[in-house]
Amino acid sequence: MLDEVQRAVRATAVPGKVATSIPALAGADPEGFGFAVAGLHRGEEVQGVGDWEVPFSVQSVSKVFTLALVLAADGDALWRLVGKEPSGSPFNSLAQLEREGGIPRNPFVNAGALIVTDRLQTLTGDASGALRAFLRTESGNPALDFDPRISRSEHQHAHRNAALANLLADYGRLDNPVPLVLDQYIRQCSLAMSCRDLALAARFLAHHGVCADGSRLLTRSEAKRINAVMLIGGTYDAAGEFAHRVGLPAKSGIGGGILAVVPGRCAVCAWGPALDGHGNSVAAITALDHFTTYTGWSVF
Ligand code: GLU
Repeated sequence: MLDEVQRAVRATAVPGKVATSIPALAGADPEGFGFAVAGLHRGEEVQGVGDWEVPFSVQSVSKVFTLALVLAADGDALWRLVGKEPSGSPFNSLAQLEREGGIPRNPFVNAGALIVTDRLQTLTGDASGALRAFLRTESGNPALDFDPRISRSEHQHAHRNAALANLLADYGRLDNPVPLVLDQYIRQCSLAMSCRDLALAARFLAHHGVCADGSRLLTRSEAKRINAVMLIGGTYDAAGEFAHRVGLPAKSGIGGGILAVVPGRCAVCAWGPALDGHGNSVAAITALDHFTTYTGWSVF
């Protein structure tokens, strides 16, 4: 199946462009491709194909994990500050936030993710550190880390995210100072992880909230809610098209990764740096499309 997916991606010459909004991302090889599947059960090995063990910049894929940690620590309180609806606007829209009185549409648009990071900072005292510790444990990769080159580059071009954070602060939505929230957010986005790391780390979402060691991070219902929000808002302003084509909850990032969940079975991560007009990886969507067609696995 993995070879089949790789063949399909290599045979599909759809153009795409590597992200340039963070200049340090622009150097990624547009031909890069990786795909990994991690099963739920002990001894069920993670398997992959292509560059599946090569770390890339996770960017917005990190938002799934910060959301999980906040829900785990704080339950439903977050949903007073952040919505659960598709965005219908670009992921970094200031206009939408202003129009809707400072309540971000969902936790995956940048404004929503800044609130989630702020909550995690309040709950842990070190949002990005807590995130890294969790991901190291779940992926079994103690070397997993931030990429300072990427975070430096993002800091130099973070004007729009700074504007969003300031607008949120003006609405009284942040506990922590804007520079701290922004720094923690940029750091979490700069995590370098491979398809292997991400697929392993996301198994708890397929396992209804249960972590690799058998402990429960989330209630079954919280895990369901994260998957639901991934489905309606995890692939920017193209979540409908993605649901139509792939049929799985997923979260993408401008580093070219897409993490997808098959509830009850496995977590999957596909990567390829060239992006379509919505900011989703062309190769990763193609791979996930073939994966669900080949296996027949989807939530529908
Ligand atoms: N750090 C990026 C930003 O906030 C993440 C973009 C993304 O992957 O969606 O602009």
